[in-house]
Amino acid sequence: VRKQTFRLLIVEDEPALLRGLTDLFRGRGFDVITASDGAAGLEAALSGQPHLILLDIMLPRMNGYEVCRRIREEKMAVPIIMLTARGQEQDIIRGLDLGADDYVTKPFNLGELTARVNALLRRLEPTGSTCSFGDCEIDLVAQTVRRNGNPIALTAKELKLLLFLIENRGRALSRDAILNAVWGTAVFVTSRSVDRCVTTLRAKVEPDSHNPVHIKTLRDVGYRFEP
Ligand code: CA
Repeated sequence: VRKQTFRLLIVEDEPALLRGLTDLFRGRGFDVITASDGAAGLEAALSGQPHLILLDIMLPRMNGYEVCRRIREEKMAVPIIMLTARGQEQDIIRGLDLGADDYVTKPFNLGELTARVNALLRRLEPTGSTCSFGDCEIDLVAQTVRRNGNPIALTAKELKLLLFLIENRGRALSRDAILNAVWGTAVFVTSRSVDRCVTTLRAKVEPDSHNPVHIKTLRDVGYRFEP
């Protein structure tokens, strides 16, 4: 079976890093296109129709936030992974709010980066009416959850949170994004409500709620669901 060739756009102004990433992904069978400034990156995103974009933030001519914002303004749903500096949580959250899907912090581990790329590309595959992870199976139509074949009871908020996480699997989600999606903007709740609901949900679906493998905490940022 011939696998689909994915086209990857890498926007990075540091020549050595751009070359290294290009070699890495070409070596893994990707069709790679590159740009070394923001304006060229936006142009390549619009004309090249990539399946995924690796986007640096600090770029000449147009920064990564602006590139991201303009891509979403064009209604392009292409997954975007931001390449960010460590310890810049506010910048990461800003990028996610502008429509980026995920991030890796520099200097990054190449294994981690390829795992994040693959997780987002898997989203392009069609999903069925059920989703399973660990020993849980969710019927997305009936909205019921079974663990080891036995039905488990989730509160309405836990269920809504779980369905939102599944729908956005592989994406980094800020607490605000989760809050808006699950609680809405009409009620007064804080991001602490998100953390509390995650804690009770983990107790019901994680193999070990103290060492979660599906609902991952992203320090100072939010959460990411990994089936
Ligand atoms: Ca840069």
